[in-house]
Amino acid sequence: MKLRILLSCLLASIFFTGFAQNTKPVDKERYEPEPKVITAGRAFIDPPSDAVVLFDGKNLNAWVSHADTTKPAGWDVHDGVVTVKKSAGDIQTKRSFSNYQLHIEWCIPADISGEGQARGNSGVYLAALPNGSFYELQVLDSYKNKTYVDGMAGSIYKEFIPLVNPSRKPGEWQSYDVIWTAPTFNDDGTLKTPAKATVFFNGALVQNNVALTGPTWFPGQAYSKHGPAPIGLQAHGDLSKPISYRNIWVRELN
Ligand code: MG
Repeated sequence: MKLRILLSCLLASIFFTGFAQNTKPVDKERYEPEPKVITAGRAFIDPPSDAVVLFDGKNLNAWVSHADTTKPAGWDVHDGVVTVKKSAGDIQTKRSFSNYQLHIEWCIPADISGEGQARGNSGVYLAALPNGSFYELQVLDSYKNKTYVDGMAGSIYKEFIPLVNPSRKPGEWQSYDVIWTAPTFNDDGTLKTPAKATVFFNGALVQNNVALTGPTWFPGQAYSKHGPAPIGLQAHGDLSKPISYRNIWVRELN
């Protein structure tokens, strides 16, 4: 009997050691410093006259499927908002952009379930690249929902932690205002200047002109030469209820 207990303890310790190793966070999943929680003000801005309106609540005519750009964006437009349809996959704008100012509003369902990265996960691809890669500004429920801080709402995914956490409760609309400077490349394809992002989340600065080390599709991904690119929205594969977007516009800064 003693031997059996000893054996099962040994097996358990092997199992849990293996488990711990397999689930060890990758280098860029950091859990601190945790951004200070602040109460956000209102930051819902109507498009200025020189803006390109990407979604005004009526249709997705400015968008296509990310996986197959010959196909329409198959997300659900209703009640002046567009709700992610996970089975239709990511979507992207028909037009391509280099440097721009972007405004976008999003809402996590009030009855959201799940935790960590599996709770209202979506994302704004600041440039959706032809090779399937992208630079992602994370969208997630970060109201009392713990996850790695470089993967919370307002983060440049697995790159930059937001400066503060102005997240609102699920069910309340939130906004991002982004200033995006596209990367530039030399003729031989090497990087000339990195992509830069400034992000306001519910009116509070969360990213201050940060220089990205590459696309955020997976950590450590190197830059590869590209020109103007569409802006994309992520249909994340988690099982929580899909989120919604509204009032999306961009001003080109070329
Ligand atoms: Mg995401």
